[in-house]
Amino acid sequence: MNHLYSSIEAKYFELEKTFGAHNYNPLPVVLKRGLGPFLWDLNDKKYFDFLSAYSSLNQGHCHPEILKVLFNQASKLTLTSRAFHNNTLGEFEEFICNLFEYDKVLPMNSGVEAAESAVKIARKWGYKKKGVKKNNAKIVFPKNNFWGRSIAAISSSTNPIAYKNFGPLLSGFEIVPYDNLNLLEAKLKNPECVGFMLEPIQGEAGIIVPSDGYLSNVKYLCNKYNVLFIADEIQTGLGRTGKILATDYENAKPDILVLGKALSGGIMPISAVLASNEIMLCLQPGEHGSTFGGNPLSAKIAKKSLEVIIDEKLAENAFELGELFRSSLNDYISKSSTVKLIRGKGLLNGMVINDNSQESLAWEICIDLMKNGILAKPTNKNVIRFAPPLVINKTQIKKAIAIIKSTLVKFENK
Ligand code: PLP
Repeated sequence: MNHLYSSIEAKYFELEKTFGAHNYNPLPVVLKRGLGPFLWDLNDKKYFDFLSAYSSLNQGHCHPEILKVLFNQASKLTLTSRAFHNNTLGEFEEFICNLFEYDKVLPMNSGVEAAESAVKIARKWGYKKKGVKKNNAKIVFPKNNFWGRSIAAISSSTNPIAYKNFGPLLSGFEIVPYDNLNLLEAKLKNPECVGFMLEPIQGEAGIIVPSDGYLSNVKYLCNKYNVLFIADEIQTGLGRTGKILATDYENAKPDILVLGKALSGGIMPISAVLASNEIMLCLQPGEHGSTFGGNPLSAKIAKKSLEVIIDEKLAENAFELGELFRSSLNDYISKSSTVKLIRGKGLLNGMVINDNSQESLAWEICIDLMKNGILAKPTNKNVIRFAPPLVINKTQIKKAIAIIKSTLVKFENK
């Protein structure tokens, strides 16, 4: 164990290593507290959280209003299952449907469950409404898509680390390059095609932003060929990219909208699928469900989490501070030999590291950022994701930008 760490930290590293599955490679920091955009480690060292649990903490850590709802509802009723009605679910459903202008919502828990539910709904719609022959429905995904780790999600993955040795995989999934309308159109023309599911900005792939007009053209093509446009806004949604939804940038309202992560303000897994009556009512009682989906506690928390995003104008803040973040770093990057570029929208940004010679440079930079008080992680090898809670303010983000710049200096010409 690294001698820099106190024995108490070493204990937590060792416990996780000994008793936990080795499916993650965390930064060597042990956190014990969070508030707003900040985290504290065991030694009370304070950090900027620039990951936000992969965009689940748009409202910041331990948001007081969300905690109030949590404590209040937790002391009354947490779980009934959907075998009975409860007195919080309907109000949440009404609120979220009105907010995003859909007829119906399906509440689930994790993001992958919601995305998989969307796939199931699209297939059922294909058979019942589009008239696709039994078991022939096709769903198209872009290359480098990421929507979780279930067998269905990895069946559409193009990343061998995600799918290799986990077969047999599911059939009925097809791949097109991201941001390529011609090849997409060729797939959508197939009368067996029922859905195209995409992230409006690809998160895990390295914060890949498609060309302007891509999303509205995707919507147009889906509409033209009677294919459902499914937007996985689990990471991009709820203010993260500077609009309530990333598809709002192009008025490209999806036929099926999938939300997760920040729908809970980082409290617990809460996800949702939204669609019209025509699509959602393809599901009949007994055909789909979840013991915890739509529980009274999550319904209350999700409603408050959405209200916080709107009331505190977090999308607007993300838009403004995102512009500041990228323009300040671009000044630095224009003279840098270490950083190739920064890309993103709002406060979902990826800094691409020049790492032709050293694969681990992004990781090394993240280790130094951690030492200097910023927690961030590489995604897709040479891209560092910068996604702070959207409650961060201008003074705080300027301080974080200064730390990022001073950290990078050490790596120039390395
Ligand atoms: N979809 C997208 C775009 C994601 O980024 C993720 C997780 O990172 C998921 C789906 C899966 O969400 P979860 O990890 O909550 O299952």
